[in-house]
Amino acid sequence: MMSDSVCLCVRANDEFAPCVDYVFRTFGRWAGITTKCCSVEELAQGAPVGEAGLILAYRSEGEGAESWQAIEKAVRNKPIISIKRSNFFGPSFLLAPDLPEPSATLEEAVSSEGFRKQVQRLSEKQAHIGFDLIASAFWFLARYEEYVTATAEAHNRFLASFSIAPPSLYDQPVVNRWFEHCERLLNELSGRDSSCYFLPKPRIVLTHDVDLIKKYRGMMGVRRTISAMMRGDAREATSEIRMASLVLAGLRRDPYDSFDEIFSIKERLSAPSTFYFMGGGDAPLDGDYSLDDQRVRELVMQILSRGDEIGLHPSYETFHSPEKILEELQALEKAVGHHVIGARQHYLRFDLPETWYALGQCGLRYDTSLGFPDRAGFRCGWSGCLRPFDVEKRIELPIIELPLVAMDITLAVYENVPAEKAVERLARLLDASETPGGAFVLLWHNTLHDSRAYPGYWDTMEYFLFASAGTVEFATAARLCEEFELRMVKTG
Ligand SMILES: [Zn+2]
Repeated sequence: MMSDSVCLCVRANDEFAPCVDYVFRTFGRWAGITTKCCSVEELAQGAPVGEAGLILAYRSEGEGAESWQAIEKAVRNKPIISIKRSNFFGPSFLLAPDLPEPSATLEEAVSSEGFRKQVQRLSEKQAHIGFDLIASAFWFLARYEEYVTATAEAHNRFLASFSIAPPSLYDQPVVNRWFEHCERLLNELSGRDSSCYFLPKPRIVLTHDVDLIKKYRGMMGVRRTISAMMRGDAREATSEIRMASLVLAGLRRDPYDSFDEIFSIKERLSAPSTFYFMGGGDAPLDGDYSLDDQRVRELVMQILSRGDEIGLHPSYETFHSPEKILEELQALEKAVGHHVIGARQHYLRFDLPETWYALGQCGLRYDTSLGFPDRAGFRCGWSGCLRPFDVEKRIELPIIELPLVAMDITLAVYENVPAEKAVERLARLLDASETPGGAFVLLWHNTLHDSRAYPGYWDTMEYFLFASAGTVEFATAARLCEEFELRMVKTG
């Protein structure tokens, strides 16, 4: 069993050790390996190498031959990979958002051949990785730059366009890719079995944020129509007026009321999914429903009877307020009749790390907000669950993050990808998300059914899901979270 594997991680015992250990631990959880971290001194003084079959040594060039010999002596003939330690963890930590290595180097190392170019084979059982894989992984996993970059955005969010990393570095879960290559190298040196205990099948975590359930509600529809007229689109305005009257007269179904379609598609796909409901909030951009509304109560019943998951969609102003989140969580739990374990922030508003603390304080076990609003991809360089890290306090947070990969509105509005091209983009992201424990977390709004606002997108989404159905597995966010919790029990 892979979970029996133990890897000893040797690194300096300095103030950055918690950051380095966090990366090693994340690697271990992903690979099903228990990691144990210690310094060269501790090793020389007899720190138990024990059953550790694999050794990773994170060292700067300045550490010299003596410390290397000390490591070799202590671990006696066991496979060792040394990894270059740059100056990233040093005096300039948290002063600038800079990547630990040039982005071209990091990008090249995403491919297997590119990674090989960074590897120097020292002997049969020893190899050296010539770029700072640990700090680079840390930079993405902990969202390091978000602690040092001032941002000005209408909703106080960190956009992909603010990142100093080129957009292409977000098209892949880069950290997973580097870990895969590193693990392969470990296997080569140790003769370890490469079979992983996770299902090697791409997984789609289908999610729905329930923001608005009606497009036309009394004067709301009128206001929309007026604003369309102001934009000078008279034909659109006329047809909106017509549609609004038909809906209000009960002759047409509201375009946002697409839940029956969603249920029917999911049924044909045998795909469970997660619906995030709002439990309050009265900001102008908050939802248009109350959990007491008859239609919402019916929806909740339908969702629960189908075995889907219900999570919380904390309202616009909640992202630094545990009190508000708790209030909304309690309202939702009352409506649902059981504990709710996960959340995604409305508008993806997230103050890192504060929002994780706020969610955790309310007893929530996972969050799935960490995608960029303006670009689909892998914001944490990661596919699947991970433990987030507080860069200032240098501690791991007691909550799970399941990063969002693609939101329908991101493609349709922010990236402005035409519907017919969106399938290809989704398919690429799905392929990229495949890694042990990985997940393509997709956000599909009920409002996408408004074909005037999002022409062709509903069909695109349906087509993408049916086209992938044969080769993927669908799972709820809660299920991934539970699997990850189990994995943490096994590997630490
Ligand atoms: Zn929302």
